[in-house]
Amino acid sequence: MKYLDEFSDPELARRLFDDIHATVTRPWALMEVCGGQTHSIIRHGIDQLLPEGIELIHGPGCPVCVTPLDTIDKALEIASRPDVIFCSFGDMLRVPGSGRDLFKVKSEGGDVRVVYSPLDALRIAQQNPDRQVVFFGIGFETTAPPNAMTVYQAKKLGIANFSLLVSHVRVPPAIDAIMNSPDCRVQAFLAAGHVCTVMGLGEYPELAERHRVPIVVTGFEPLDILEGIRRAVRQLEAGEHTVENAYPRAVQAEGSPAAQAMLADVFEVTDRAWRGIGMIPASGWRLSPAYRQYDAEYRFSVTGMHTEESTECRSGEVLQGLIKPHECEAFGTTCTPRNPLGATMVSSEGACAAYYLYRRLATPDAAGTAGTREGVTSLG
Ligand code: SF4
Repeated sequence: MKYLDEFSDPELARRLFDDIHATVTRPWALMEVCGGQTHSIIRHGIDQLLPEGIELIHGPGCPVCVTPLDTIDKALEIASRPDVIFCSFGDMLRVPGSGRDLFKVKSEGGDVRVVYSPLDALRIAQQNPDRQVVFFGIGFETTAPPNAMTVYQAKKLGIANFSLLVSHVRVPPAIDAIMNSPDCRVQAFLAAGHVCTVMGLGEYPELAERHRVPIVVTGFEPLDILEGIRRAVRQLEAGEHTVENAYPRAVQAEGSPAAQAMLADVFEVTDRAWRGIGMIPASGWRLSPAYRQYDAEYRFSVTGMHTEESTECRSGEVLQGLIKPHECEAFGTTCTPRNPLGATMVSSEGACAAYYLYRRLATPDAAGTAGTREGVTSLG
C-alpha cells in the first residue's frame, strides 16, 4: 500500500536494527508515549528484535485508557436520561464504568449512538431540536481541536441543545509527572508524533533539559519507530538530552497554529485525573468560561458520583510502565477484549489489548521484552 509499505521495508529495517545493535553498549529503558506506537511495536515484534537490555516501557498515551472512571460514570448517567442522545466514538462503548458500560446503557434503552466525527453529533443536534445531544469529547491534543471546533460551531450557529462531556488530556505534563515519580525508570521518550503535528515541539526542550532526558518525536510505522529508537539510544550513549524530530514528514516545529488558536479560544488548561495514575496538575483541558454553557457536566449537574474500580485490574501499573500486561493475573483469563476488566483491554490503543491481540499465544517469556527472542513476528 503506497505510503505505508515504504515504512515497513525489511531491508531498511534490518539496517536500522544493525545500527541500533552497533550503538548500544549497556541497558537503556525507553518509553513510547502513545498507545498507537505500542501496538505497532508489539504487532511487529520490534521489542523482541532489539539488543538485550533495551526495554520499551509502554506509556500512558491511550486516551480511552486514561479517561477517569468518574467521567465514564458521568457519561453512563447522562446517557441513561430519556431526553438525551449520547454520541461517542465506538471504542468508548465497551469501557467499563463502576458497574456497566455504554453498551449496557444502550441495551437498557438509552439512545447511545456511535459517530465518526463530533460534527456528526452536531448535525444530530440540529435534526433533533427537542432532544439534548451530548458528545463524549476525550483524548489528547490530537482530538481536542476538532472537538473545540465543534463547540465553536455550535455557538456560532446557535445550536443550544448540543454539549460536550470533556475529558481532554495533555502529554507534556504527563511526561513531567512520569519523570518526577520515585519509581521512574524511563531514560528517554519516544514522543507521540501526531500530538506534535498539532502542538509543535515548543513544550519539550524545557522538559528535556530539566529532566536531562532525550525526547525524540516519533511516528507510528515500524521504520518510524526504529528511527526514533535509533536516535534515542544514540543520545543516551553520547550522554545527550535534546529534542529531536524523527517524524518530519508530519511534524513541523511550530505545529498547527490554527489548531492551537482554536484550542486557546474554546478550552482552558485545568488539572486532570488520569485513570490508573491519579491527578496530574495542568494536564487537561476544560471548556473556557465563554463556552461553559456547552459543558455537559454543568448542564446535567452530574456530581458526587461514587466510583468503584475493579480490584483485579492492574491497568494503573500497566499505564505507568511498572508491569507488562501479561504480568497481570487476569490477562487473557478473567479479562479479555470481550469481557474487559480495565480500559487498557478495550481500547484499540490499549497495551493490554495489544498483548492480547499479538502475544497471547506466546510463552510467558516470549510475551515480554526481556525473555527469549523466539516467536518473533518479523517485519516484512
Ligand atoms: S489484563 Fe485486564 S485486568 Fe489486567 S491490567 Fe489489563 S485491563 Fe486490567
